[in-house]
Amino acid sequence: MLMQSTEFFRNLPPKECAKCGDKIEEMHESYSNECTHCESKII
Ligand SMILES: [Zn+2]
Repeated sequence: MLMQSTEFFRNLPPKECAKCGDKIEEMHESYSNECTHCESKII
């Protein structure tokens, strides 16, 4: 049987910031690999 896409995403680990390692909220997944705090620091 094929795994459903929902099961696949459920097994993914939570996204973490590439700089501070903080968890990135789902709503920011279209952004870079950095959390909002680090993103604001870059600019
Ligand atoms: Zn960060």
